[in-house]
Amino acid sequence: MIQDIGPERYHNEYKNAKPKEDSRILCCRKGKLLLRHQGREISFLTYGEVKERFPRLGGECRYLFAIDGIEYFLMPELGKEAFQDLEEERQQEEPVWSGIDFLRKASPREAAFAGVTGFQLAGWYQSRRFCPACGRRMRHSETERMMYCPACGQREYPKLNPAVIVAVTEDDRILLTKYAGRAYTKYALIAGYTEIGETVEETVRREVMEEVGLKVKNIRYYKSQPWSFTDTLLMGFFAEVEGDDTIRLDENELQVAKWCTRDEIPENDGISLTREMMDVFRRGSVPPVRFS
Ligand SMILES: [Zn+2]
Repeated sequence: MIQDIGPERYHNEYKNAKPKEDSRILCCRKGKLLLRHQGREISFLTYGEVKERFPRLGGECRYLFAIDGIEYFLMPELGKEAFQDLEEERQQEEPVWSGIDFLRKASPREAAFAGVTGFQLAGWYQSRRFCPACGRRMRHSETERMMYCPACGQREYPKLNPAVIVAVTEDDRILLTKYAGRAYTKYALIAGYTEIGETVEETVRREVMEEVGLKVKNIRYYKSQPWSFTDTLLMGFFAEVEGDDTIRLDENELQVAKWCTRDEIPENDGISLTREMMDVFRRGSVPPVRFS
């Protein structure tokens, strides 16, 4: 999955640090990320390269996280004029503005993960420049990743939307779905955001009932996944149908929902928790029922 870059390698403990010459700098602008790539192989500019290559870039870099001892910093979002050199001299080996979806299949995996995660943080910082309560300019805490308003005291922490993915099964069949009205057309699992006031287990039951009209039992937690593309923390569950297995489709949410046997699960080389859960079911290694 996208976060599978090895144990003990991603460190996001906040510190109020300054970039070193070899620190990697993430620059985001208009939904794109500045990077170098040759085919799928990507790299980010070092702080030393940024200073040399773009002398007009200024502003304070914000520490993000470290991976394998390499520290990543965020360059404040700047206007087009700061990147004029880049716009004029686009050559091979030069950094380019890349859409975030490019990182889904980019390598090395740790750089792709750093890019996606940094992109989420960049979006959060961009949206928290001003206080949502009184409109004054926010400041960064010295000790934690938190923005606060010096005028009214409002505090803002990085935004995460909790959501569930549910593999609904019945014996050797699994329920696969396709979303309605979305660009993503591959098979997926039941999914939805947790509402205020409910547990994630209740989200599982509600979403399955809303989307396909089924009751579920034996809900087992599988794994979670940070999904920075949509500010989401995904939590994957397996659950079994309780009673009638007749699908009643919510056509506003789903285009297709159908029972598939292991052999019918389509091949998918993606990086998502959904894909891994489908593979787990195909291999017959679904977590056992411990509590019921
Ligand atoms: Zn305020």
